[in-house]
Amino acid sequence: MKNFCLIIFTVLLIAGCGTPTTCERTEILMGTVVTLKAEGLNAQAAVDESFARIAELEENIRVDVKKIEDAAGSGAFVKISPDVYQILETAQIYSELTDGAFDVTIGAAVELWGIGTDKARVPSEAELAAVKNFVGREHLHLRSDEAYLDKRGVKLNFGGVGKGYGVDVARKVFARHGVTSGLIDFGTSTIYAVGKKRIGIKKPDAPSELAAVVELENAALSTSGDYEKFLIVDNRRYPHIINPKTCAPVAGGLSSVSVVVEGSVENCATIADILSTAMFVVGKEQAETFIDAIELPAKIIFAENP
Ligand code: ADP
Ligand code: MG
Repeated sequence: MKNFCLIIFTVLLIAGCGTPTTCERTEILMGTVVTLKAEGLNAQAAVDESFARIAELEENIRVDVKKIEDAAGSGAFVKISPDVYQILETAQIYSELTDGAFDVTIGAAVELWGIGTDKARVPSEAELAAVKNFVGREHLHLRSDEAYLDKRGVKLNFGGVGKGYGVDVARKVFARHGVTSGLIDFGTSTIYAVGKKRIGIKKPDAPSELAAVVELENAALSTSGDYEKFLIVDNRRYPHIINPKTCAPVAGGLSSVSVVVEGSVENCATIADILSTAMFVVGKEQAETFIDAIELPAKIIFAENP
């Protein structure tokens, strides 16, 4: 009987969420592998509620993006969820601060290249010239809880900001439940550590190895690189990150940029997600200058092909 109880207890423990003070679970959400780990008296509630909120966020994004794009050019602002409003507002602020390197209206260019999908291809010069007319943050207007795209054909893309916002959503739920230690991990692309955690940054040329180990303490880390989603044509690598000025993928060898933003900053993970993409666009030479000018408790880490 004693052994039987021990086995049951061990099985519950391995299954996760078996003890009241620790909980770990993985789900596929927002197109990525989301792993949540929490310690604290309400660990399970924190994890359950976070997953529910992330699923709700994903739905809010899907519904609101369609509404905004459908009304583009009609003259009518559309009412959107607070989640999507906050994402768009933060995206616009950091687009300006990064001199347009991040642009949430990049959608038409992302679709044209199709990198990371089975429709990936190098478009013609004419197509590239045409798509530039449908990218630009000046086309996106926000007021109270509404949004409007002033040109039909302009499309929103949350690939470089949605996951970061998802991390912030979970972070707030964790805080409300008094989680003392934990990890919010969106496919290693954006991560938040509650308490102190050591996080590995992958080597761009050998992603199974580590380029660096970062000690994160109540901070967000986001990485953008050219080694996970890319297209290769005629020996040239086209990563999924696009320079909004040219509407073409950022050139360069195997590399990644990671940005750490301290948890004292509201929406630190959203900002880290945006900045890692933007700093990949501006490149190593200019990135430090941008990060300094933004005046956040943030730092930048580069991993390059040796
Ligand atoms: P990951 O998806 O690995 O987190 P990023 O956060 O860097 O990588 O996001 C890249 C995604 O963001 C692309 O797949 C695309 O959907 C979108 N994107 C590409 N270029 C830009 C850009 N300049 N500004 C905003 N979003 C972009
Ligand atoms: Mg990201």
